[in-house]
Amino acid sequence: MKDSTRVVIIGGGVVGASVLYHLAKIGWSDAVLLEKSELTAGSTWHAAGGMHTFNGEANISRLQKYTIDLYREIEALSGQSCGLHPNGGLMLAASQGELDSLKLICSRARYLGMETEMITLQEAQRLNPLIDTSHFIGALWRADGGHCDPSGTTHAYAKAARQLGASVERHTRVLSLEQRRDGSWNVLTDKGTIHAEHVVNCGGLWAREIGHMVGIELPVLAMEHHYLLTEDIPELAGRDREIVNTTDYAGEIYMRQERGGALIGTYEPHGIVWSPVKTPDDFSMQLLAEDFERLAPYFEVGFRHFPALGRAGIRKAVNGPFTFAPDGNPLVGPVRGLRNFWVACAVMAGFSQGGGIGLVLSRWMAENDPGQDILSMDVARFGAFATPKYTSIKVPENYSRRFRLAYPNEELPAARPVRRSALYDKLTAAGAVMGANFGLEHALWFAPPGVPPTETPTYRRSEAFPHVRAECRAVRSAVGLYETTNYGKYEITGRGARAWLDRVFASRIPGPGRIGLAPMLNPAGRIVGDLSIACLQEDRYLIMGSGFAEEFHLRWFWSSDPPPDVFVRSAASTLGGVSIAGPRSRDLVQRLVRSDISAASFKLFHVRETAVGYAPAVLMRAGFTGELGYEIWTTPDYLLSLYEDLWEAGRDLGLTHFGGRALSSLRLEKGYGSFNKDFRPDYTPGETGLDRFVDFDKAEFTGRAAALRERASGPKRRFIVMEIQDADTEVIGYESIMKDGQAVGYVTSGAYGHCVGRSLAAGYVPAALARDGARFEIDILGEMRTAIARFQPLYDPHGERLRS
Ligand SMILES: Cc1cc2nc3c(=O)[nH]c(=O)nc-3n(C[C@H](O)[C@H](O)[C@H](O)COP(=O)(O)OP(=O)(O)OC[C@H]3O[C@@H](n4cnc5c(N)ncnc54)[C@H](O)[C@@H]3O)c2cc1C
Repeated sequence: MKDSTRVVIIGGGVVGASVLYHLAKIGWSDAVLLEKSELTAGSTWHAAGGMHTFNGEANISRLQKYTIDLYREIEALSGQSCGLHPNGGLMLAASQGELDSLKLICSRARYLGMETEMITLQEAQRLNPLIDTSHFIGALWRADGGHCDPSGTTHAYAKAARQLGASVERHTRVLSLEQRRDGSWNVLTDKGTIHAEHVVNCGGLWAREIGHMVGIELPVLAMEHHYLLTEDIPELAGRDREIVNTTDYAGEIYMRQERGGALIGTYEPHGIVWSPVKTPDDFSMQLLAEDFERLAPYFEVGFRHFPALGRAGIRKAVNGPFTFAPDGNPLVGPVRGLRNFWVACAVMAGFSQGGGIGLVLSRWMAENDPGQDILSMDVARFGAFATPKYTSIKVPENYSRRFRLAYPNEELPAARPVRRSALYDKLTAAGAVMGANFGLEHALWFAPPGVPPTETPTYRRSEAFPHVRAECRAVRSAVGLYETTNYGKYEITGRGARAWLDRVFASRIPGPGRIGLAPMLNPAGRIVGDLSIACLQEDRYLIMGSGFAEEFHLRWFWSSDPPPDVFVRSAASTLGGVSIAGPRSRDLVQRLVRSDISAASFKLFHVRETAVGYAPAVLMRAGFTGELGYEIWTTPDYLLSLYEDLWEAGRDLGLTHFGGRALSSLRLEKGYGSFNKDFRPDYTPGETGLDRFVDFDKAEFTGRAAALRERASGPKRRFIVMEIQDADTEVIGYESIMKDGQAVGYVTSGAYGHCVGRSLAAGYVPAALARDGARFEIDILGEMRTAIARFQPLYDPHGERLRS
């Protein structure tokens, strides 16, 4: 074994092997993979090898397609077969909700360039004659996917990587990791120490323990998983091709052909966590004890839906562990506070995702940028809230829902409520239906007295629709209160704060008493943040952004090297807030503030430290509704008093609660995009329209060169808001935007505009097609709807109400 290398990858499962291959391919061939046992010895060797491109997140779907397409490349390079069976996929629906979900997948697939089609049950049965169609109402067929040989695929990656100069050391166990002063690592193994500039944790079942070696607690946990292999099935004899891999949502079953028989697996509702506290050191290439009694009822559903399986004998049962993050997506990327330490773990679908993970991680390491938006698998989507207890409750919930459809209006109940603001009890008493964002409870909408605070999961308009409408109208006609504690909040202080912010943000940094809208770019000129900066004093700033991105932004700030005279601190738990919005909001706030906040003296984007009722507060004139509005921030111990004061003072002004759903409607009526949904690291200032906040005259800021290049050449695509004609339900996200039968772009968010009386969708189309009034088509749950681009906000186009 060498004693020094650029990168050590810990773990020789399919993910570690893919990372090794991709690093070698990008030119970092001085890389060593350390495997304590044999390659594949964790969860990889006993996987069922199924592969597909289905994921609720378009970017992950794209990476899954990349993974599947890559297998031919590594086969050719390595001479090692991946044992590919590219026989495509079938998805079966048994309820209207499941059918809607399949239609949504079809609409999304067009822009992703994936061959997908709704087919009849008769056609489905031709592709898989084992289906008893009487249990189903619809089917989707997709060309991509199939299955591969897990061992062959892992060895193909490793051999291809070796050919590019990388190396693999088997039977070499990493015992501990020590960081040197320069940020590089001493990797201590049972075969000696190897010095590495970077370390990647691809430890699979042991990723948690490798995290402990560097003092972090990764939110990852293993679950037991069963599948069965049947004896030969007479119905399959003599067929000239394999049946198509089939997913049965109602039965929570997947099945495919395995030689002359079938493989059938289930994700049961009460799954068993494996090794909840510590993964045994000596576990390797072992299976777990079968538990038929527990699983029989679930497999029996499968035997009813695919009766030939029930008639065939069981040849073999496999029970093996594999890992999950609380939301089921992988954990990838650098970890805040740890230089040169990377993770690629919690990968539950290694044969669909391993290649894509290797691709983005290798770029991230070599080029300091993953090259595309991967927020949904970024390790930074979890923060301190994802404690071991949280993970131990969320992972089994996710497992039990692996084959259940995620409805867009559905909030998962496990591990809730955990993070609660001081207003939680007040809001729930007022009928709030809560969601959780970064673990924190926040109001989605309010059920009026007599209406149950619950909502049926659906892809269509729910029973919340009229109540959200009432909230929107109250904001536009009088005044509403929305809790903003779930925003991301940061305090930047110190003598060097302004100079540092000037370098990190693309915008002009506001002077004392002012707020500025502040895009943040990566070196490639893509949007990594759309925040607002309030300057309280020359050396004291409050920054507000998306709550979902709190850890992501903290990591970005940390990696932007704040000098010793700059202090960056999360205010997530030290500030709470409310937004007061609507034409009567000034009347309300003025009742609680001694100083003059008239239109002339406290203008839009002004900020002031002042008492609001009992509460010492930061008062901002800002908001996201397009109405006259204020954000009021105070410490958690005053938040309840602030709320009570506002409520008392606002009663006769018509003060009404509003929630996140109403906010989505109000902001789209104004054409405002939102970070995470509409603005993500795939897009540029020119594409998003955030270029109007970029200060191109500044001598230096991250992403400047790329932003200038884009300004010179013009953006390739543009963010637009469209009104949908004749819609009876709203877009959800990632539906393809069609023009003359071609998919030209996709939807990023949507809502019904209750105060303009139209269904609205936001998304990106090529710049050449982005004209005011341009007509597109969007397939919304199987119905083609006309979508008309509207360049002017549909509500208050000149911003008079906002500035009033
Ligand atoms: C029954 C079953 C069926 C499945 N079916 C599918 C399927 O159909 N499709 C699909 O895509 N996925 C499937 N999976 C999931 C798939 O197996 C995982 O996604 C994949 O194996 C994860 O690979 P990995 O490389 O992250 O982890 P692992 O395979 O666990 O690899 C981690 C490696 O790290 C090594 N290691 C750990 N600690 C150290 C150390 N300290 N020093 C050196 N080496 C170390 C281990 O020995 C191990 O080889 C299935 C899993 C199971 C259990």
